[in-house]
Amino acid sequence: MNKKSLKGLDLQELQKFVEELGEKKYRAAQLYGWLYAKAAQSFDEMTDISKEFRNILASVASISNLQLVTKSVSADGTIKFLFSLEDGLAIESVLIPPAKKKSEEDKRLTLCISTQVGCPLDCKFCATGAMGFMRNLTSGEIIDQVIQVQRKSTKRITNLVYMGMGEPLLNYENVMKSIDIINDDRGLNIGARHITVSTAGLADKIRKLADEKRPVKLALSLHSLDNEKRAKLMPITKKFPVDTIIEALDYYYQKKHSRPTFEYILFDGFNDTPADLRAFTKLSKRIPCKVNLIPFHSISFMHPSGIGASLKPTPAQHIEVFADALREADITVMVRSSFGQDIQAACGQLAVIESKVK
Ligand code: SAH
Repeated sequence: MNKKSLKGLDLQELQKFVEELGEKKYRAAQLYGWLYAKAAQSFDEMTDISKEFRNILASVASISNLQLVTKSVSADGTIKFLFSLEDGLAIESVLIPPAKKKSEEDKRLTLCISTQVGCPLDCKFCATGAMGFMRNLTSGEIIDQVIQVQRKSTKRITNLVYMGMGEPLLNYENVMKSIDIINDDRGLNIGARHITVSTAGLADKIRKLADEKRPVKLALSLHSLDNEKRAKLMPITKKFPVDTIIEALDYYYQKKHSRPTFEYILFDGFNDTPADLRAFTKLSKRIPCKVNLIPFHSISFMHPSGIGASLKPTPAQHIEVFADALREADITVMVRSSFGQDIQAACGQLAVIESKVK
């Protein structure tokens, strides 16, 4: 018999499940608390549920847990977790330590989670893109990354970024369900404003997100404002041109009054020129935004061809010059330190390496 997998079900679905078993509704709230707030790995741990009902649960349902394959710790404190799924596929999650501030201790602990195994978008600089697409993660598999990493961390995970493998807005329903359970104070209780969804620019879904009530933050992997250049880097630009994406972001900002973040990987001589700066400054007058400048992590181990093979990182010194020029135009700029370079902590890198080793 196929047992019902409970992790990933919301409270309503659990209520339906317990009622079908002839149990009272309040059992669902108990199960929900055990699954999410108390991160139970088996029915045995649910000590305030009678032994009898636990036995029934074990015979008709299951709690599937991601299995840790490797944990790599970077010199800078970044920790990368490689998990295997029930069907043997692998995904990764990256725990990012707080930025070191001189004056105060930064209490943030950010986890970067995956939403798909592989990715169909084929961005030319991305290791996950080079893997191709295997499947969407279930809402349970998305949530379980937070649960499993939290179980291994002494500090509380305070922030979540949907920036791991895959395109979150292509797995819209499961991603939104995971957000609701992670955000719920009876669930994992991470504030919606501490949750960021990052997209390669699916304009239609950005508009859909804008129309919904979830106050999550949005990040756009921009990488170029020049339509032709962006299309070379990110083929999705052929479906959603830069103007269409920016219009959708404008709509998002008008509805949510929340500044989007632009992620921008700097490629030497490709998207770090004075013309790129001018385009950025113009955009910031239209949409108040924050900019994250990201050093390019090499994906040479993937043996990329075409434009992917010619992309080089902008030297650190020039990244600072670019950042300062944006700041002069009153744009809030963060230069992302190249966290985890030594453990291949950019999107998809570890999962790719591990599957090659096998
Ligand atoms: N599909 C979503 C989320 C996954 S990518 C998106 O496109 O936003 C998460 C971030 O990692 C993106 O900003 C992406 O551009 C960046 N990234 C991917 N490959 C990288 C690399 N080789 N070096 C640096 N950043 C990379």
